Amino acid sequence: MTSLDDLPIRDDLRGKSPYGAPQQAVPVALNVNENTHPIPEAVAHDIVARVAAAILGLNRYPDREFTELRTALAGYLGHGLAPEQIWAANGSNEVLQHVLQAFGGPGRAALGFAPTYSMYSLLASGTGTAWIGAPRDADYELSPETAVSAVREHDPDVVLLCAPNNPTGTPLSLETIEAVADAANGIVVVDEAYHEFADEGTVSALSLLPGRPRLLVSRTMSKAFAFAGARVGYLAGDPAAIDALRLVRLPYHLSALTQAAALGALAHSGQMLAMVDEIRAQRERITTELARMGFRPYRSGSNFVLFGGVDDPHAVFAALLERGILIREIGLPGSLRVTAGTEAETTAFLEAIAVFAPVHA
Ligand code: PMP
Repeated sequence: MTSLDDLPIRDDLRGKSPYGAPQQAVPVALNVNENTHPIPEAVAHDIVARVAAAILGLNRYPDREFTELRTALAGYLGHGLAPEQIWAANGSNEVLQHVLQAFGGPGRAALGFAPTYSMYSLLASGTGTAWIGAPRDADYELSPETAVSAVREHDPDVVLLCAPNNPTGTPLSLETIEAVADAANGIVVVDEAYHEFADEGTVSALSLLPGRPRLLVSRTMSKAFAFAGARVGYLAGDPAAIDALRLVRLPYHLSALTQAAALGALAHSGQMLAMVDEIRAQRERITTELARMGFRPYRSGSNFVLFGGVDDPHAVFAALLERGILIREIGLPGSLRVTAGTEAETTAFLEAIAVFAPVHA
């Protein structure tokens, strides 16, 4: 049998592993930070009607500039953003890939604060960009001083700030984002994939865009919007930065079906986001209950919780899987990560993990 090693693959890809969250059909899947609530049926019907209309025109290429979608996304984001300040692609992973294709590449470096979203280093390696994983403060927090000192030391071409951070859930203060944006000579991307789950009063990095042409803010419809299967991510920034992304995208990268579906979802954003408060409540419940059991949940501004105090993470992961509950082993010692699901899913998780509680009631 031919193995990867037998092929003339790029040297810098040799020995690397693909992104690999386990995909398993289980009753309670809380491992990839999806919104576990299905989209409302009335919205689904409208999306179907829009996709059906788009199908009749599939003999033609889609709008390469996805103008209607950019207009709808600008309207959703607010902050006075214009459609020419918006970019979109098949998931924010592709948006971030476009950023690294345009502003990273051979001889250039991207910097993030580890542990952080595992795709950053994979996207860097795929685009031939060097990856620098700079350290965080205690409990995975990131102060302006720590962040700025890494940016000054390495002077990267791209900084990736994950706000809140995956896999730790850690919120990132606007002060740190502003300090990095002002200290960096390169592009600064704030990945706000989970922004809608942040606590009330959290101000988006979108508010920092005016006067900062090298600052980009990415979002996704995969999480709060409950639209992961449709693959729609987007970004806001200066029109000149958006023009740079146009140089590296494939023509017609957003299919007419994707554009139609996303427009349908955005037309009902209130209903699509209706479960966000409930998910936040389940996240708080997880944090409170895990702490009560003696685990060490970290501060989270997202729809998931990282918790320490687990003696044997793999054994706990496997025992839960045995009961049909899939959570995430992320390779941090003594820690596991769980997504806030529906109330019933969260209950199933809490009941199953109670057996492994460091503190027994
Ligand atoms: N950024 C972060 C921090 C994420 O956790 C994820 C998904 N796990 C993404 C980006 C990518 O999401 P998508 O490609 O579905 O938009």
